Amino acid sequence: MSEPFTKKERMKLDRIEMPERDAAERAQSFDEVNLGLTAKMAQLEAMRCLECKRPKCVDGCPVGIQIDEFVKLVAEGSIGAAAEIIQRDNLLPAICGRVCPQENQCEGACVLAKRERPIAIGHLERYVADYVRAEGFEYIKELPVPTGKSVAVVGSGPAGLACAGDLIQSGHAVTVFEALHEPGGVLVYGIPEFRLPKEIVATEIRGLEDLGVVFEMNAIVGRTHTLEELLAVHDAVFIGVGAGLPRFLGVPGENLIGVYSANEFLTRVNLMKAYLAGAETPVLDVAGKQIVVFGGGNTAMDAARTARRMGASIVRILYRRTEEEMPARREEVRHAREEGIIFDFLVGPTGLTGEDGVLEAVELQQMELGEPDESGRRRPQPVEGATSSVTADLAVVAIGNGANPLLLATVPEMETTRWGTIAVDEVTGRTSMPGVFAGGDIVTGGATVILAMGAGRRAAASIETWLDDGVWAP
Ligand code: FAD
Ligand code: SF4
Repeated sequence: MSEPFTKKERMKLDRIEMPERDAAERAQSFDEVNLGLTAKMAQLEAMRCLECKRPKCVDGCPVGIQIDEFVKLVAEGSIGAAAEIIQRDNLLPAICGRVCPQENQCEGACVLAKRERPIAIGHLERYVADYVRAEGFEYIKELPVPTGKSVAVVGSGPAGLACAGDLIQSGHAVTVFEALHEPGGVLVYGIPEFRLPKEIVATEIRGLEDLGVVFEMNAIVGRTHTLEELLAVHDAVFIGVGAGLPRFLGVPGENLIGVYSANEFLTRVNLMKAYLAGAETPVLDVAGKQIVVFGGGNTAMDAARTARRMGASIVRILYRRTEEEMPARREEVRHAREEGIIFDFLVGPTGLTGEDGVLEAVELQQMELGEPDESGRRRPQPVEGATSSVTADLAVVAIGNGANPLLLATVPEMETTRWGTIAVDEVTGRTSMPGVFAGGDIVTGGATVILAMGAGRRAAASIETWLDDGVWAP
């Protein structure tokens, strides 16, 4: 364990950096960018931990993983035991270790963050998860006697998967209804392979299938099935349908050929393999072309880096604020920049122009930052008379998503918020309809994988109570 170093020495040690594919090479391939820590690197990094008496990192984790404990076990080389600690609070560690915004969560709260060298908690979580997956480690040994109760889970993103995982381990029958032909939600249709290999998501899902979770694909609740039908057959329903309705810019020219929502662009590439020759749902050929992406979040980075990998010669991210306000993970921004993505800050589109219905350019308004808005970020406002234009063969709009109204339109009795999300009791995930629970992005609006997963788990615990006592007190 940590004896080789005194506390003073540990504080001086450099953070072990994640090995990465070379930027020029990776910009041509969909292979994962981060290569993972070696056993030695992981152990050395874990040894930097100060084993704080009151570990702030745990407070920073949205699901309260006992980070100090698992990191200590990694330092001791007990990886299986470390996995068990993580698994108590996080069912998808290989995924979260790769995509969680750790700098705003556990690593941001780590005492060493003050010295800009927080423990690389995400990289260690990923290391542990990858290690036990490669070793075929079994987390759950035995299932309880079936309870005879059944639950329908609508949506197979992290919220639905986490909810299903907990309920099946309590002995309930669980069927997941998913609108798409592959399970995983944003993990498969949104986040690209170079950040999150699909095989990892597939392994997590196979694990749930092995436990007995049934996945019904191409099942659109609100179209192919009604909520009423699900409630007639199951004892409870969990809704985790995400926030998949793209927002648009609302400027002239958005209907030109060559303008995509990020959802459509990424779904075609990630899920429908549009990068392969002869793909049935291709995107316009971007090779050698100029691409612009509107937005500053992870989705914008993913779209820009995807376009780059498909051969685009110039890819620009156009963002209304400055780099400081960008919600994307820092690592994604750095990776994008290294791959040659150009960032233009403080610009907002006023129109898209083209000829014969095909996009050719984007008209831009220069912005400056004013007073903070309700999100706490300084509001961009136009600088009078400062306009410009940039050539664009293809534009991707990645400025956020709203709640998908498809299912909700069929149940007007369900209470929603003014943003169109489902209104729930925050602790229990209970909706205004008895027996129906909800969580994830459909409740919070676009958020993060770990928050969606946490909501799915809280709802699962609350479903247990409802299945036990049948008392509905929203
Ligand atoms: P989703 O993952 O959206 O899953 C919902 C599922 O429900 C989908 O599979 C959908 O097809 C299905 N569905 C919808 N309607 C129906 C219906 N009527 N019937 C049946 N099924 C239905 N978060 C991070 O933490 N880190 C990141 O790096 C990150 N990157 C992101 C990149 C992109 C491109 C996007 C779009 C999001 C990213 N996020 C990231 C956010 C994160 O992915 C989401 O917050 C999270 O996936 C929400 O989980 P969910 O289960 O609520 O919904
Ligand atoms: Fe280790 Fe940082 Fe957590 Fe302290 S706050 S226990 S140094 S990871």
